[in-house]
Amino acid sequence: MDLFTLTKSLMNIPSVSGEEEAVGFYLRDHLESLGWTVELQAVSDTQNNVIAYLNDTPRVWLSTHMDTVPPFIAPTEDDEKIYGRGSCDAKGIIAAQIIAAELLRKEGIEDIGLLYTVEEERASTGAKIANDHPMAAKCEYLINGEPTDNDLAIGSKGAFRAKIKTTGKAAHSAYPEQGDSAIEKLLDILEDVRHTKFPNDDFFGETTCNIATLDGGVALNVIPPQAETGLLIRLTTPMEPIRDALQSLIRERGELEILSYSLPVKMLAVDGFEQKVVRFTTDIPHLGNWGQPLLLGPGPILVAHTKDEFVLKKDLEDAVALYVDLVKKLLATNGTNNTNS
Ligand SMILES: [Zn+2]
Repeated sequence: MDLFTLTKSLMNIPSVSGEEEAVGFYLRDHLESLGWTVELQAVSDTQNNVIAYLNDTPRVWLSTHMDTVPPFIAPTEDDEKIYGRGSCDAKGIIAAQIIAAELLRKEGIEDIGLLYTVEEERASTGAKIANDHPMAAKCEYLINGEPTDNDLAIGSKGAFRAKIKTTGKAAHSAYPEQGDSAIEKLLDILEDVRHTKFPNDDFFGETTCNIATLDGGVALNVIPPQAETGLLIRLTTPMEPIRDALQSLIRERGELEILSYSLPVKMLAVDGFEQKVVRFTTDIPHLGNWGQPLLLGPGPILVAHTKDEFVLKKDLEDAVALYVDLVKKLLATNGTNNTNS
């Protein structure tokens, strides 16, 4: 199956996070038909990571995720581009990696594996389970795919997900002095969040904060007894300074609940590739047992997660060549590398 057909076949199978079973079965069947040994690693009753290899000790693995953000958007195309959900994030990447792996096989290179995870778009649930797979110990390099415009990402920011909750006292809104507004408390806290200068990092760049959700109150004529906000902070530092900054600005006015976090990561730099730092996070912080991480994939991150998601066909083709080149360079290292992480 050619690159564009495989991309569209994968895109035609809806796989919003939590619903990856069918696309996992499809990948298993496709890879088995090509002669790969394929394991489905259970993540839940209806979700499996796909782990495929040609020998028992592959040193280099290609990986990305099978899930997408909602909603499903069926693939369409013109001469230049493939449009639709997963075109760049990340089904085009899966297709490019499989085609690259098959080209390597034709040259007799079988020291490669393929790892496809579930739920990267939520909290990397699949990656966390994959990290305990016995194959991880034998892997030296993990080339993860996310849309980097085919540049080699040498750093990616982390993500800190938290809620701030406030509690007040309900009262008839005609008698506000009888109550205590949780929403007004939360607004005061959020004003301080907006004016807080979180620590930055010279390599990873600026720490940014998205005040992403707001919730609270019960009715127009009731002083709101509770409120909460959801924050996602793009981490460029360890987690603790950010947590401490939030706690000291919240003081006794509310309660900080940390939902999850992943740290910023430095990845391997390889000569001959364009390099940059990306602002998003990936499965990589949760795949620490899988050797040295690298990050490269076709497509612009700015269209991922939008209704206009697309990938240039030329970028998909270039990605195949880049993956082939990268795998060969890594296999030529004989297990020694000039890691900078
Ligand atoms: Zn992605």
